[in-house]
Parts: sequence; structure tokens; C-alpha cells
Amino acid sequence: MTLIPKSHPRLNSLLIREKLVKGFDDNLVAKEGLLAHGRGEAFDYLIGEKTSKSAKEAIKAAAFMLKNAENSVISVNGNFAALCPIEIVQLAKTTNSKIEVNLFYSSEKRKKAITKILRKSGAEEILGLNKKSSTKLLGIDSARRIVDKNGIFSADVVLVPLEDGDRTIALKKAKKKIITFDLNPLSRTAQTANITIVDNVTRAMKLLVIESKKKKRKLSKYDNKKNLKVSIIEIKKNLERRANNA
Ligand code: ATP
Repeated sequence: MTLIPKSHPRLNSLLIREKLVKGFDDNLVAKEGLLAHGRGEAFDYLIGEKTSKSAKEAIKAAAFMLKNAENSVISVNGNFAALCPIEIVQLAKTTNSKIEVNLFYSSEKRKKAITKILRKSGAEEILGLNKKSSTKLLGIDSARRIVDKNGIFSADVVLVPLEDGDRTIALKKAKKKIITFDLNPLSRTAQTANITIVDNVTRAMKLLVIESKKKKRKLSKYDNKKNLKVSIIEIKKNLERRANNA
């Protein structure tokens, strides 16, 4: 592990990076996952590495949607498992959601490593491991099309963090409601999802768990397109403020 001085101005971001690198060493994270994280880091830098107002709105809407779902599923990939295993299990419990491992760069070794960390964090049932209950989702070429019949395949709401656009579009076509975490408000996933939380998953998952513990029967209207536009304006304002102070 690299020694990072506590006074480093971007300490949190570097600690998150260390987690990803450890996840790679522990076989959780694919090489491509490191690159995806790099893209995320760049956007996190632009948003000022803090949770914005628009992200908080999206988190409230996501908690409401998950709690009111018939069959909600949290889809887990390597990056997500390496960054927030405890929060994944907590969120599954507070929203009565299932956990399903679903990988783009799938291998038994990675599936095992991801299962291990989820179990260590308290997960009981984990879907996506049993070939007997698997089926194919139309419109996806990669290994991600293999889903569990009782999980993503029959879900009404799916939480897909750090996702690629093709799968999000396919899930949407399959009439699922999609919640995502994506630091890039312009990605195809961000633009396709029903609720996009433009924030680092490490910050936002903690807030989503807290929000999902609150009792709420009704939610004021949420418009994802509008909220995404606000998130872009927030980035712009943040950049202007920093440029003026430079
Ligand atoms: P799309 O196909 O949806 O346009 P993409 O090809 O740009 O997406 P991918 O590499 O498939 O992106 O997915 C990674 C996405 O996850 C990126 O948009 C990146 O900003 C985002 N991301 C990476 N790390 C994090 C993180 N820690 N928290 C939230 N989002 C992240």
C-alpha cells in the first residue's frame, strides 16, 4: 500500500483509488474496471469531490423507488464490490432487495472473489452464481446477458452502478426501472436511467442507506432529465468558482 500523507488535499480520492487497486490485486476488479474508475475520478474532480444538491434529490427518489418496488435487485460488479461491500448488504436489507453478481468481464475466479467479500460483509443470498436458475436477457452481447430468473430477469427495479450504456438500454427495453450511480452525467447510462445519482458511489451509497431507513410514504415529483441538467449546471458553476479563485 502506498503511503498517502494525511494532509493531502485529495486524500479521499486517493484512498478510494487504493481500494480499487487492492480490489484488482484480490481478483475483484478487472483491468478495464481500473480504467472506468479513472474516468470516474476525472468527473469527481470536476464536481468538487462532494455530493451535490441534485445528487441528494436523486438519492431521495432512489430510496423511494427501491422501497416501493415489487422485486428490486442490486446488480453487483467488481468495482462496486471493491468499493462498498458493506453498504451493498445494508441497502439490500433496508430496501428488501436481492443481490445479484453480474459481470461484463466474467470469470469464475472473479465471481468467487466478489461472493467472498459480500459474504464477509454479511450477505446471505447472492444470485448470479447458479447456472440452473440463469437465463438470457435479449439485446446484450457480453456475459452480462446471463441473469438470474428470480433476480434481474423478473425484477421491476434494478440498481446498476458504474454501468455500460448497452446494458442499461437493454434493461430499459425489458421494462425495468433503472437506478444508477454515474459520475458522468452525459454517459449513455446516465441519460437512459430513470434515476441517475451523479456522485461517487462511495459517498452516495452511504447516503442512500441512510435515506432508505427513513419512513416516507410519498415523494414530490422527480424528473431525471431535469435533475441531470441541474447537475451539469452545478459542475459548470463549480468550475467557474475555481477558475475565479485560481
Ligand atoms: P456509457 O456506455 O454509459 O456511455 P462509458 O462507456 O462512458 O458509459 P463505462 O466505462 O462503461 O463508461 O462505465 C463507467 C462509468 O462509471 C463512467 O461513466 C464513470 O464516470 C463512472 N464511474 C466510475 N467510477 C465511479 C465511481 N466511483 N462512482 C460513480 N461513478 C463512477
